[in-house]
Amino acid sequence: MHFNGQEYVFVEVVDPETGNVLPLETGVAGELVYTSLDRECVPLLRFRTRDRVTIQGTSCVCGRTSFKLRCVGRTDDMLIVLGVNVFPSAVKDVVSSFYPRLTGEMQILLEHPGPGVKPPLRVVAEYGRDAANLADLKIEVEGKIKAVLSVPASVELVLPGTLPKFEMKAQLVKKLYPGDSEPEGIQTTPGVVASRGSASARVIHLAYSRSGQDRTISMQKSAYYS
Ligand SMILES: [Zn+2]
Repeated sequence: MHFNGQEYVFVEVVDPETGNVLPLETGVAGELVYTSLDRECVPLLRFRTRDRVTIQGTSCVCGRTSFKLRCVGRTDDMLIVLGVNVFPSAVKDVVSSFYPRLTGEMQILLEHPGPGVKPPLRVVAEYGRDAANLADLKIEVEGKIKAVLSVPASVELVLPGTLPKFEMKAQLVKKLYPGDSEPEGIQTTPGVVASRGSASARVIHLAYSRSGQDRTISMQKSAYYS
């Protein structure tokens, strides 16, 4: 899809691990970061969306000049198994490809807070009505996860209807440990943000905190339109 908010949002793609800004070029993958240019009350400054995207193109036959992107998952959902980044949605895609032998419902079991996961990745999936030999099916699913995602998995097949149904977004990861934790990494926290002048002002001043330090920046809005 096209990104269509260039007049209102300054977009960056950063390396989610280092926070380094990546070039907005076809094929680049990273996390979307937004800075709002027109919001007066609560502007966002380098807001980390946690959305992992790949840039699909910077020109288009339809005539739009904005870049095109595809969202591949959420950074805070991402797991790392033996150094390989794994999105639960990608595991779900593999499981769903076995329909109707699997129902497509699945959950990843996490024994410890991520993103690092000790292999194998534990996956619970529901077998479907057409499943014949469950032992063979388990090996086949594990093999495909390994082939497609390059991570070893241990698949447990359960009766159809066993996994919880979600009305909105499916919960693909089940935490087996108490409490909750934030993924590690560089965090940019937009703090109290002040914007002086009207929306049409050429310069906006923003105060924010990063890594616990208060900072202020002034941005030339025109810089983003040149
Ligand atoms: Zn287009």
